[in-house]
Amino acid sequence: MARLTLENNQNSNEYMDPKSFIENHKDRLLNELFELLRIPSISADPAYNDDVAKCAAAIEGHMSALGLENVEVFPTAGHPIVYGECLVDPSLPTVLVYGHYDVQPADPIELWDADPFEPVIKKTDIHPEGAIFARGACDDKGQMFMHLKAFEILKAEGDVPCNIKFMIEGEEEVGSMNLEPFIKEHKEKLACDVILISDTGMIANDVPSITTGLRGLSYVEVEVTGPNRDLHSGLYGGAVANPLNILAQMIGSLHDEKGAITVEGFYDGVEVVSDEERALMAKAPFSQEAFNASIAIPSGMGEQGYTTPERTSIRPTLDVNGMWGGYIGEGAKTVIPSKAYAKISMRLVPGQDPDDITEKFTKHFTAIAPDSVSVKITPHHGGLPYVTHTSDPAYQSASKAYETTFGVPALPVRSGGSIPIVALFEQVLGAKSILMGFGLDSDAIHSPNEHYGVFNYFKGIETIPYFYKYYAEGVD
Ligand SMILES: [Zn+2]
Repeated sequence: MARLTLENNQNSNEYMDPKSFIENHKDRLLNELFELLRIPSISADPAYNDDVAKCAAAIEGHMSALGLENVEVFPTAGHPIVYGECLVDPSLPTVLVYGHYDVQPADPIELWDADPFEPVIKKTDIHPEGAIFARGACDDKGQMFMHLKAFEILKAEGDVPCNIKFMIEGEEEVGSMNLEPFIKEHKEKLACDVILISDTGMIANDVPSITTGLRGLSYVEVEVTGPNRDLHSGLYGGAVANPLNILAQMIGSLHDEKGAITVEGFYDGVEVVSDEERALMAKAPFSQEAFNASIAIPSGMGEQGYTTPERTSIRPTLDVNGMWGGYIGEGAKTVIPSKAYAKISMRLVPGQDPDDITEKFTKHFTAIAPDSVSVKITPHHGGLPYVTHTSDPAYQSASKAYETTFGVPALPVRSGGSIPIVALFEQVLGAKSILMGFGLDSDAIHSPNEHYGVFNYFKGIETIPYFYKYYAEGVD
């Protein structure tokens, strides 16, 4: 690939001017991203293994051209991890940037308006300045590449304010299974004060936001057994416990009339979100009517005392994901089933531990089962909840960076979902992550016609350098 040359900045005495740098290099900044987007680095499909390797090599080329040190493509049991660093002074803080260069498959390809691996810029209602249409444009090549270009600005302006390490992996879209052994093995190399990730979204182009929380998960399968075989409901009905009836009752009892979960000890340790943070979160635009309409429900429901956005982010939940047993074929078959089953997921919030919750659920569910049946509980995968508090200096640096470039500080947003690597980073590296995502929900990531706003791409490149500056200076 073509090596980049760093232009010398004539006014390096004037501190950072990312905006005019971007203005002066617009076409190149887009073309370099386009080059990456043309490589179909689909991690899920072995037919694309060479392209994944080619993309890793391209990232390596960019890192070397930017003057990063110890640039290396680390092979793993799957796709490689690309690493590079700029260590300016051990007394300064260290930021580890994480991103991924692999992409989702383009299927169903017929639903794309154009070749998913030949980027084009098109205007949309949400992106009047145009958006880059290509697989990976937002998730995550566009967002990951912003960090390399933001670093180029720091270099060009002759001021890298702290130590920066880059770790770009190639297996995020297939579960990052080789990342954990890698970070455990290279714990010292990856040592950092904070991790910076752009792989999420923000509320809107004029409402920047930072994801500060992610929910954890406890997932169990329950089995309720009554008689040793399916029985004739005429001959036995009324005298034998029906596991399906019992299971329905048991599940019904897991919430009280106020929508709270009744599992003994379920809320122990649940972190209480401060009124200030709840007030900040409430600034995010939300319409209950639009929410109801979008999923065609007559009204919302949930735990009393909390709004819909709070119920889906800062509060834990318990939901049946599936329930089965007995006869579910066509017509009627009059049986009392021997067994009934359900899959139950619990979304967890900071202060809860998946193993502890699974244990509490098991105890509770066993205790509420009547003597007429037996129950068996099988735990499935789980995940730790995560939070970066808004009082964290790294969060405040990020928010101030948005304020500098967007004119308004970022709003903290807790997401209802999970990003397991963030909890993993905290466990292994002992560092918090700042999720500075610049994508929008409408960007169609993982879907046909994925795109990323040109505004968002440039705004990300413009904002990131300020994060380093404020973080290194210390925000008061
Ligand atoms: Zn991603």
